[in-house]
Amino acid sequence: MENGILQEKVLVLNKYYQAIQITTVQKAICHLVKGTAKVITTDWTTHTFSEWIEISKFYENGDARFIKSPSVSILVPDAIYLPYYKSLPRSEVVFSRQNLLLRDGYRCQYCGKLLKNPRDRTIDHVIPKSRGGKTVWTNVVLCCKKCNLKKGDRTPEEAGLKLLKQPKEPKWQALILESFPQHKVQVWKVFLSFAGINS
Ligand SMILES: [Zn+2]
Repeated sequence: MENGILQEKVLVLNKYYQAIQITTVQKAICHLVKGTAKVITTDWTTHTFSEWIEISKFYENGDARFIKSPSVSILVPDAIYLPYYKSLPRSEVVFSRQNLLLRDGYRCQYCGKLLKNPRDRTIDHVIPKSRGGKTVWTNVVLCCKKCNLKKGDRTPEEAGLKLLKQPKEPKWQALILESFPQHKVQVWKVFLSFAGINS
């Protein structure tokens, strides 16, 4: 099996069909084999592992992507459904550097520059720490080195800088779409828009 595919992301839905987390193809397959999960497709039908193997056979000659082992070929699932899992979607997004990058779209929140190179990225406290500014979603933004240097230990107003937008706590469903490969966004949107949680 190709290792790259096994590490790809799969959306996980709970028993109420709510998107609750992301897992890897590898873990999704384990769930399917154990029978604790079914594959779910965008028409909201669910398929057991053996059903999925049968369905996969119909696509073998197309351009669909497969996980191949000597005995069986399985279509890479986009999402799985956990019929016994009652956990609800997380209401809070963990404060982390990675999530901050996603929230701010990899752009300096003052000049708007796209910061592709990790070395260009700094994290700015809007109200400086020295003035009691906290490390929380509403006071921290991604910032390029140049703007950070210009701002120094001052507020944006004092430094003559303007935030592109007021920092807020992000919704994790929105972060998922930001971080997901483009070719799967359309599929995931179907599941995330259920019950209006993708806002
Ligand atoms: Zn900047």
